[in-house]
Amino acid sequence: MNSIFTYDQLQSENEELRQQLEEAHDAINAIRTGKIDALIVQGENGQELYTLRSADRTYRVFIEKMSEGAVTLNPDGTILYSNNRFATMLSVSLEKVIGKHFSTFLPNSFKSNYESLLKDGWKQDLKMEISLLRSDNHLVPCLISCNRIELDEKIALSLILTDLTEQKEAEKQLLIKNQQLEQAELKSRVLNDQLAALIEERTRELYLSREQFKFLADQLPVLVWTAKPEGTIDYFNKRWYEYTGKAHGEISGWESVLHPDDIQLTHDRWQKSVLTGNPYEIEHRFKRASDQNYRWHLGYALPFKDENQKIIAWFGTGTDIEEQKQAIEKRDEFIGIASHELKTPLTTVKAYLEIIGKYRKEPLPSAIKEYVSKAQGALAKLQNLVNDLLDVSKIHAGQLLYDKIEFNLIDLVNNCIENFNHLYPQRKLVCSCEERLIVYGNQGRIEQVIMNLISNAVKYSGDSTDITIQAYRKNDKAVVSLIDSGIGLTEEQKNRIFERFYRVEDKKFLTSGLGMGLYISSEIIKSHGGRLVVSSNFGEGSKFSIELPLMEI
Ligand code: ADP
Repeated sequence: MNSIFTYDQLQSENEELRQQLEEAHDAINAIRTGKIDALIVQGENGQELYTLRSADRTYRVFIEKMSEGAVTLNPDGTILYSNNRFATMLSVSLEKVIGKHFSTFLPNSFKSNYESLLKDGWKQDLKMEISLLRSDNHLVPCLISCNRIELDEKIALSLILTDLTEQKEAEKQLLIKNQQLEQAELKSRVLNDQLAALIEERTRELYLSREQFKFLADQLPVLVWTAKPEGTIDYFNKRWYEYTGKAHGEISGWESVLHPDDIQLTHDRWQKSVLTGNPYEIEHRFKRASDQNYRWHLGYALPFKDENQKIIAWFGTGTDIEEQKQAIEKRDEFIGIASHELKTPLTTVKAYLEIIGKYRKEPLPSAIKEYVSKAQGALAKLQNLVNDLLDVSKIHAGQLLYDKIEFNLIDLVNNCIENFNHLYPQRKLVCSCEERLIVYGNQGRIEQVIMNLISNAVKYSGDSTDITIQAYRKNDKAVVSLIDSGIGLTEEQKNRIFERFYRVEDKKFLTSGLGMGLYISSEIIKSHGGRLVVSSNFGEGSKFSIELPLMEI
């Protein structure tokens, strides 16, 4: 550009160009609206004329309305015609499109492909995907379809461009979703595999622990069983089948081998445990198949709970206690006979001692008097012991019978207080008694009970502590309470002290006794329609209360 132009020259050139642009504009509009059907384009070989057949006008309008870009190229790739849509796809005005080389709107990376596309497009119809370069440098993915067309005797290349942006975006999203789906699938497959492995392992563990349990249970010499949480038995061990002679694996009908007298009690106890979740304990008889004899068993079952304290099974055992039962029976029989046999010689000795004590023919040396009195003391203790033993065997045999009358319990309590003062002059008994509490019973036996409670309160509390006796009415009951601040009892001890021969083994607090007093006392009170209750705190003291039905309310 070596030529130098004057201002006027430039001005007129500019004016000329402006006019050309206006003309071009008008021509484009005219073509689009179908007003003209011929166009002169400045080509390599000078001006070239392109005409449209009048029948094509309809198509031109149709093409303008299309959602695809439509472009016509001359053989050198210049855009002869473009619809508005193509310009919109490029984000430029239509004027900036027509007359431009098509490759202007292609990214550099595609330009070489474009050359071959053009070459092939002239020869045959073809379709391919390309990218257009938008004015803001964004790439617009398109499907381009090339068709060679003839415009009068000239040829042109018609391009239809479908914007694939949305489709590509949708495909991209689909791909992402697919990938996410695949990942999720993969994860769930891994999870599934882990779960399957876990289930397999747990099943194996469960199977093993069940088998181990069965193996262990089968080796035990006791009857073993398990039950579902709601109480249905679902397993018996080998020993059960050996003992009962039932067919191996038979679960139902266990009542048929239970002693008829024990069925109801067993049923009631079991239902109670199932309802409350408390341990099940019972003594009942099962028939042994080998000799058809009923033998005593100690039945015991515990609930097995999960981490939420929900019962998931019951584990039970039945231990043959027939021999122990017989031994206890023999012991009771022996105690009964021995105490009975001892009673007569003791009475004789007592009578002789009394005769010696009352001997007046010649004065007795004081040493002899002292020995006689000591022997009488020891004899009294021995007689008490023998009487207790006799009572125990009578209670056991259901033979503790006595006459009953109506009497004022307070008079009896006062007698006991007098006895206390005589027996334990060094101890203090604090009294709090009402005046009249009429009950129906055997005075001697009730006095025996109160004296036993007094003697226990003395035995199991320190020498310097007071003992309190209270006699009062509580609703329709007469209550006599003995309160001490002695050694007290633990929960377990409290639950067992009324058992026959039960004694607390306390090495620090050794006292004499055979564990019969509270058993006899509670049985006596029971046979009067009352009850003997204890409340106690270990190390703090105890309160034993007799409750008897009141005759005058
Ligand atoms: P014994 O006193 O002959 O052992 P009992 O049947 O009278 O038998 O009492 C049973 C057990 O109860 C006693 O061994 C003792 O451990 C406990 N006991 C009874 N009375 C009391 C009490 N007042 N304080 C603490 N323990 C007691």
